[in-house]
Amino acid sequence: MKKSAKTVLILFVVAVIAAAVALIVLFPPVVETGYEEKVDALSFMENTRETAVPQTEIYNLISDHFNSALPEGKTEKKAIVIGYDGCRADTFTLLDSEHKSAVKTLLADGGHAVFSYCGGVNMPEINTQDTSTAPGWCSMLTGKWAETHGVYKNYQPKEIEPKTLLISLIEDGKIDSSAFYVSWAGHFSKPKATYINELNYIEENNINSVFLRAENDDGTKANVLADINKADCSDFIFLTLEYTDHNGHATGFSLDNPNYTNGFYSADETGLEFIEAIKSRKTYENEDWLILITTDHGGIRRNHGGPSVQERTTFIVSNKEIAQ
Ligand SMILES: [Zn+2]
Repeated sequence: MKKSAKTVLILFVVAVIAAAVALIVLFPPVVETGYEEKVDALSFMENTRETAVPQTEIYNLISDHFNSALPEGKTEKKAIVIGYDGCRADTFTLLDSEHKSAVKTLLADGGHAVFSYCGGVNMPEINTQDTSTAPGWCSMLTGKWAETHGVYKNYQPKEIEPKTLLISLIEDGKIDSSAFYVSWAGHFSKPKATYINELNYIEENNINSVFLRAENDDGTKANVLADINKADCSDFIFLTLEYTDHNGHATGFSLDNPNYTNGFYSADETGLEFIEAIKSRKTYENEDWLILITTDHGGIRRNHGGPSVQERTTFIVSNKEIAQ
């Protein structure tokens, strides 16, 4: 190498290092502090992050509900899962505010709340599936982790087996109908969507399950309320609201971000509208409802999928006891 070429190379390397140092000084990486302290101080949680239940517990709660005997005076079982997509557990520190809240209402009415986790294994193990939308909801709907259902990340279609509760409860004769209300296209509205095979199976086998995608959360809300307000509403309703996930990706998953906290308030107010609609049903007194609120994953900075405690810690809130 000629001397001049060598000098140019050295200058270039020095310039690159200087630029990198300048970037780190000007834009230091966001290190989030205080998350653990905040969630650990939530006095109404019935377990700890260390004893968190796997998010697959949602499957067991729903199965047990439909497999148990009807309580005295009840003639029909129903269940709803109200999903707040991408809702961090520390949003529960916002519950003392003035906002209407499904979580607060369930707890005030004798409900229960526990920490759960996504990602396949609890902290401090490293996650075995992405802390993302498709693996998360799929683990709840099948009661299995990705090693069984095969959905390790988004846009990885699940085979027919293991079937979700939306189908299996009908095929097992536990319920007559189910419904899946979303706005995210990755569930069943794109070629590589998670439940595209299951949707075909439903259509081919005339199964009484509605998979309906709206353009946005307003549309999902309208679809869910229309169902609940029907005299013969779906026996099992599963829905996801994107307020928190959408705002987190747009501007940051953080309680310091008003856009994110407003996303939580919107989700939790909408959740309460669903609960109030259920309680307003003419046949409500004769129905035995299981009402669950949960999330698929948390988030950090503008993303999720990884192994941080902010992404992996989730929650389950129920109007009924959560066995541990
Ligand atoms: Zn999600």
